[in-house]
Amino acid sequence: MRQETIKKLCCPFDKAEINLTVITKDIEGNIIDGFLTCNECKRIYPIVKGIPIMSPDEYRELKMEQPLIDKWKHHLKGKSYENFRLVAGNSENKSF
Ligand SMILES: [Zn+2]
Repeated sequence: MRQETIKKLCCPFDKAEINLTVITKDIEGNIIDGFLTCNECKRIYPIVKGIPIMSPDEYRELKMEQPLIDKWKHHLKGKSYENFRLVAGNSENKSF
């Protein structure tokens, strides 16, 4: 998906602005992997093989998304992923 196209998207729930984090791009600069985060509801929308996953929560598969989020963990800036939302927290520290 083209970066310009992604910039025009907004959160389907509250129409708030979303932030793009690019993880991988192809040689033409199209986004292959990455994620979008909503400033308002803190939802995180993964971009998988160029397709942003922006379905309502009930149609999303946590099982499918969790491995991606784990893989992208170092891009989350210390936040944790809960209920499709990126929340401030130190879940990593809690496990000790
Ligand atoms: Zn939102």
